[in-house]
Amino acid sequence: MALTLSSSLIVLLGFFICNFTLISSQKNEYDDPTTKTMEEFSGYPVHEPHFQDSFSSLSVDADNLQKQIDELSSFSDTPAPSVTRVLYSEKDVLARRYIKNLMAISGLSVREDDVGNIFGRWDGYEPELPPVSTGSHIDAIPYSGKYDGVVGVLGAIEAINVLKRSGFKPKRSLEVIMFTSEEPTRFGISCLGSRLLAGSEELAELLKRTADGQNTSFSDAARFAGYKNAEDLSSVFLRKGSYSAFIELHIEQGPILEEEATSIGVVTAIAAPASIKMDFEGNGGHAGAVLMPMRNDAGLAAAELALAVEKHVLESGSIDTVGTVGILELHPGAINSIPSKSHLEIDTRDINETRRNIVIEKIHNSALAISKNRKVKLSEFKIVNQDPPALSDDSIIKAAESACQELNLSYKKMISRAYHDSLFMARISPMGMIFIPCYKGYSHKPEEFAATHDIANGVRVLALTLAKLSLT
Ligand SMILES: [Zn+2]
Repeated sequence: MALTLSSSLIVLLGFFICNFTLISSQKNEYDDPTTKTMEEFSGYPVHEPHFQDSFSSLSVDADNLQKQIDELSSFSDTPAPSVTRVLYSEKDVLARRYIKNLMAISGLSVREDDVGNIFGRWDGYEPELPPVSTGSHIDAIPYSGKYDGVVGVLGAIEAINVLKRSGFKPKRSLEVIMFTSEEPTRFGISCLGSRLLAGSEELAELLKRTADGQNTSFSDAARFAGYKNAEDLSSVFLRKGSYSAFIELHIEQGPILEEEATSIGVVTAIAAPASIKMDFEGNGGHAGAVLMPMRNDAGLAAAELALAVEKHVLESGSIDTVGTVGILELHPGAINSIPSKSHLEIDTRDINETRRNIVIEKIHNSALAISKNRKVKLSEFKIVNQDPPALSDDSIIKAAESACQELNLSYKKMISRAYHDSLFMARISPMGMIFIPCYKGYSHKPEEFAATHDIANGVRVLALTLAKLSLT
């Protein structure tokens, strides 16, 4: 407890010092931070009347931020209130330009990598230290809303503005990242930009032979958007340790914060996602002519497996294990024809990787057993992805918690059951996430909504957390 308190005092003092003293004198203040902290803290109400102002001066220009969210939503291929913004489309290119402009207006130095991840950096006074980064995505699946991802990009730029207006000077540089293609819409790969940043050689190879539904290759699509070197994406990889911290602001996409009237969610872990594609094949036949003992019905095999998925998930004994058969297709799909082929796509997640992997193994065993019993062929069982979960870093959780306390905002620690670019940034950097409430937990549909004051609260917590992390 004492340790927690004194370390948070060091951070508090650091923030204050940066606000009100020159950088050159600051390094001296740090010579003996412990002594200095205790002196300053015990004396601050008398000697430092401006101290409390430093937090109230974290004022978010909420109206302008809301205006930007509305403007960005107009770069859409479907009519408002829906938003459709697909990777490397014309609207995506315009939206990217909009973001780069805002970064420049905020005085950030802007750079893009070969896949179109966009970085805006505010140099700290010790620019050789690994920076603290924050960001999210702005692509939107068809007919979705205007807050998913966007709050974490526009909100991050506003958090930088907030800190600049308060007079704060970062020690470590602060960097805003707009990730390319968090959504899998166009090429079937989610978190494309952050997976590459985290050094996925497998993905860089795969993209060399990936095309979209219109048969446009990935590199041609990238070239259309102005990224001419997308044939070899190894240039995008970042080394581990490139950032001292990464923190993402995001709408919760679930109902908990709103239901409990809590302002902020401090994410402690991101559930580990996995997905499976599989096919059963039987002989099919006429629904009237083939008698029941003669059948090997691929549809019934799929139905049996769907129930087995539910059973295996429930057997895990943890509420954190989930499984969904989101796609179940029957071929040929006629009322008077026994299904000769069935295709299933299964999503399963857990915060515990071992437990999640046991579920996958059980699903596989069930598929084999069903195939044998029903005399259908298991023609494909492919694990498309099997990512590990990510745990938030303790230092980032603590920084976000103390930011909430200092800003007098209610908060709760929670798990992110959806995954985000943060899941992959966790492979190269200590990671954390800040959630804000959203209406009924709606997301990925036009009704998605977050109130301006909730967004502003998220930005203030983000700004203060960035400030704290920048000084460590
Ligand atoms: Zn998102």
